Amino acid sequence: MSIQNEIVKIAKQCYETGLVVGTAGNVSVREGDMMYITPSALPYNEMTEEDVLKVDLTTGKVIEGNRKPSSETPMHTNIYLQKEEIKAIVHTHSTYATIFACAHKAIPPVHYVIADIGREVSVAPYARYGSESLAGYAVETLGDANGVLLANHGVVAVGDTLADAYRRAEAIEELALLSYGSHVLNSVNPLTEEELDEALEGFKTYTSN
Ligand SMILES: [Zn+2]
Repeated sequence: MSIQNEIVKIAKQCYETGLVVGTAGNVSVREGDMMYITPSALPYNEMTEEDVLKVDLTTGKVIEGNRKPSSETPMHTNIYLQKEEIKAIVHTHSTYATIFACAHKAIPPVHYVIADIGREVSVAPYARYGSESLAGYAVETLGDANGVLLANHGVVAVGDTLADAYRRAEAIEELALLSYGSHVLNSVNPLTEEELDEALEGFKTYTSN
């Protein structure tokens, strides 16, 4: 499957599973000094591989494609430029995770699946959508984790592959819902540091196998 095809497949999956609504959210994959990214303001059900754009990471210029690239293009290019190991990004405004982002509250480790992301899902400081500082804050807050919340905005999930980044975007939404529910039941029981260490260790072998 071509990169463009995979991007369309995952973008549509984000829409079908409710991680994004309308034309919000975007998906990208790094290829050397370039990246492929979804277009701006195109309904997901109309998207085809011809709509995916190839963008130069350094100049931000469109190399291939006739559409306008996602308004979050500077965030994607700057994340790739600042973090060599990141190969794919899924950005959503999924509801429960975005509630935590708006409340400026990290998602706590209430379920072991958080180990696929990190010790928690932290919140990066607010910066205007589409701005270059958004990427700086996201990368800084991300550290070694695989996902981060953007204050008053949404979610960034990253990975070696688009499938990894997508799985993490989905996990972050699930974790946010579970944390939200735990708050509603007034009984939030995060894993202990030791339990978290164990889970993180487990995920290392899980993802490398
Ligand atoms: Zn956004």
